[in-house]
Amino acid sequence: MRHAVLNRRHLLAALGAMAATPAVGRAGPDGLFEVQWHVELTGAERAALGAWLGRLQAAAAGWWPRITAALASPGFTPTDRIILDLNSITPKTIPAATRGDRIIVDAAYVLSMVGNPDRLGMVAHEMVHVAQAYPPFAPSFLTEGIADYLRYYVLLPQDPGRGYDGARSGPWDGYQVTGGLLDFIERAHPGTVQAVNADLRAGGDGIGPLHKAAGPLTHAWRDYLETHPAAGTSEALAARVRALTP
Ligand SMILES: [Zn+2]
Repeated sequence: MRHAVLNRRHLLAALGAMAATPAVGRAGPDGLFEVQWHVELTGAERAALGAWLGRLQAAAAGWWPRITAALASPGFTPTDRIILDLNSITPKTIPAATRGDRIIVDAAYVLSMVGNPDRLGMVAHEMVHVAQAYPPFAPSFLTEGIADYLRYYVLLPQDPGRGYDGARSGPWDGYQVTGGLLDFIERAHPGTVQAVNADLRAGGDGIGPLHKAAGPLTHAWRDYLETHPAAGTSEALAARVRALTP
């Protein structure tokens, strides 16, 4: 989504600058998430965010088993604890990010549309990053493509924000674009995403399992577009923009 404009190195540099932010409050352990508050809020904002957290925790309890099952690989045990860090992220083009088992969420971004399902889905995407636990050099288009594949095609297939313009995109664009392609390949060749995940986690580039299932990515992409994916049209992209416009 919005952080597509920044590469991972920029992202980590930006997050490193936040590390010294003092904690102004901390919720007790509650299920999957340990919630930490690192942002100053009004009482009303804190109440709104607290209600949002309740909805998030209820949804995430169902998401986490599905994410970790989809991304299972031999010898890997996913964490059962995620730190949810409510913070103020700079630059503001990054609404959320993940570092290890910590998901950092920009509280102001959530509050700007606190009832929009996108704000919950955004955390689903970040939860996938926690589960991935790939080496830092994993190709970002696949890291982000798998995160959006699980978000938009497995966990939240009715999300009104599912949309992109396939005609103006390519298989290496990551996020929803690669996510849609992965969904297409997975439907024809079940188990491909799990094989790509295992390869990435083991330090591979993930391309081998994709190639084995669907041939060269450029061919798979052509075949995918010929199926006229509902999410991959300019109309779907316009609907996404409307869904994300206050
Ligand atoms: Zn991401």
